Amino acid sequence: MASVKYVSVTKRFGDVTAVNDLNIDIADKEFLVFVGPSGCGKTTSLRLLAGLEEVTEGEIYIGDTLVNDILPKDRDIAMVFQNYALYPHMSVYDNLSFALRLRHAPKAEIDQRVREAASILGIDHLLQRKPKQLSGGERQRVALGRAIVRHPKVFLMDEPLSNLDAKLRVQTRAELIKLHDRLQATFVYVTHDQVEAMTMGTRIAVMNKGFLQQVDSPQHLYDAPANMFVAGFIGSPAMNFFEGKMVGAEEELAVETRAFRLPIPPRMAHALKPHLGKKVILGLRPEDIYVASEVPPGIVGQQVACKVDLLELMGNEIFLHLAANGDNFTARVSPRAVATPGHPIDVVLDTEKLHLFDEQTQVALIPREIKLGISQ
Ligand code: ATP
Repeated sequence: MASVKYVSVTKRFGDVTAVNDLNIDIADKEFLVFVGPSGCGKTTSLRLLAGLEEVTEGEIYIGDTLVNDILPKDRDIAMVFQNYALYPHMSVYDNLSFALRLRHAPKAEIDQRVREAASILGIDHLLQRKPKQLSGGERQRVALGRAIVRHPKVFLMDEPLSNLDAKLRVQTRAELIKLHDRLQATFVYVTHDQVEAMTMGTRIAVMNKGFLQQVDSPQHLYDAPANMFVAGFIGSPAMNFFEGKMVGAEEELAVETRAFRLPIPPRMAHALKPHLGKKVILGLRPEDIYVASEVPPGIVGQQVACKVDLLELMGNEIFLHLAANGDNFTARVSPRAVATPGHPIDVVLDTEKLHLFDEQTQVALIPREIKLGISQ
């Protein structure tokens, strides 16, 4: 198996810079997910690695080999696409064996690899069927099988689940995680779906407008987003943002918004002192806002009087849409919370969980180590 390395990789299509100075090291056996909104450059990044697009500037390595000038078929990768691209006139067996037959692999070896892949994916009983006689999920497995039989160094997957219905997507997601464990191979996976990225990736690379925003483990990305884009993209409902200003004396820093004044926890204060008097953006995730009558023990919070705008009942939780002096925000609270649209309500903001961003650059102001409680 193999590591993958992008070194200052840029890809331009005429005036459009699809990928801008991408640097990323993907370890052997890692499950790396590129995620971002439509047009952010994630598919292009994958196609560059596959050799389906030519790099404009920079270098791509698979293992220790510089692959810029190596043909796709010689890169030792296998790609699974959103549209499964199965040959309709061939049986599942022939679809699975096609690439090996092209390479004139010995018949016995082809048969052994096809049966091994079919067994891994649980499609042994479908080998004689044609693609049109399969369900969407089964077709997706055949597409994966075609990659597996090749024993590639790196599996590349571009939105492979997006043609499946919601239930099958969740099920196949879990199967892909197991498959990765079982194959012990490097997976590079593209999706626009942050839930897919969070659940599958050992690390996630968030992209926006051709630029890599942050690469981190799912939990670290969630707990310590490097900027407002990542903070707003990862998490649902999205993080609340409030315009504010750093105020107070050195020992008692606070951030003041239109609606409230939130004291800065002492462990964050030192790093934030240089921003005293400056405009900032405060971020708070919906689950870090509690109805005042339901605050769990141990939460250090700031009480704020608001009005309930709207309730979204989800069954296992409620999304409370709140308004306070011109600030609108969402809280994710327990289904037992008592709230009535149009009525006042007191909520508590968990000050330990606050995020702060520079108003101009939108970059996070609290260092990652402090957010994650990692000593420097
Ligand atoms: P999506 O989720 O919609 O597939 P993406 O993040 O995968 O989006 P890319 O397909 O990598 O985005 O495209 C990045 C940018 O490059 C877009 O602005 C796109 O229009 C442009 N682009 C991609 N391929 C080409 C091409 N062959 N010619 C010109 N522009 C292209």
